Amino acid sequence: MSYDIYIGNAVVKSAWTGGGEYEDEPFAEWVVEPLELPGAAPFKDDATGYGNHCHPGYHQWDQAMRSCGLHTLWFGNDPIERSGLLKSHPGITPLTPGHLAIVETAYQSYCAKHPDAKPGGCSCKACEPWQSDPDVPHDPQADFNLVRFDWMLFWMRWALANCERPAVYNH
Ligand SMILES: [Zn+2]
Repeated sequence: MSYDIYIGNAVVKSAWTGGGEYEDEPFAEWVVEPLELPGAAPFKDDATGYGNHCHPGYHQWDQAMRSCGLHTLWFGNDPIERSGLLKSHPGITPLTPGHLAIVETAYQSYCAKHPDAKPGGCSCKACEPWQSDPDVPHDPQADFNLVRFDWMLFWMRWALANCERPAVYNH
């Protein structure tokens, strides 16, 4: 089970046509379309390339955002009265400069706590279950949270600078 998270411009995917399921009221579904930009921060270059989307497992994203100091930004403080960027799943939330500022502050704090870390994933057998070569050494500096930070910072800055309706969409 995973989130599909997109950062970019909110657009209407389907609109009320005056009949069928939404006969009695207008309806619009807002989404952020997938997009790739050359030179964008890759979330994981073997999976999503230079795209505005990532697809982390539920538990993986929960744990990673806790480690990054961004759990409240994504999930809010209250599991019942949910707030945060993932307050509805599926759902879409307007992205604000305040959200970006939270990520920038958390990034600086994370780098200060992990001064030797380098963005990347370790491919040793202990870190990467699909690794078949037992001799690949563990890389203690490789830190995938820094890849996540790079991805979030790039796309949040890009969306705020370039989009009419910057948003974070998930399904
Ligand atoms: Zn490792």
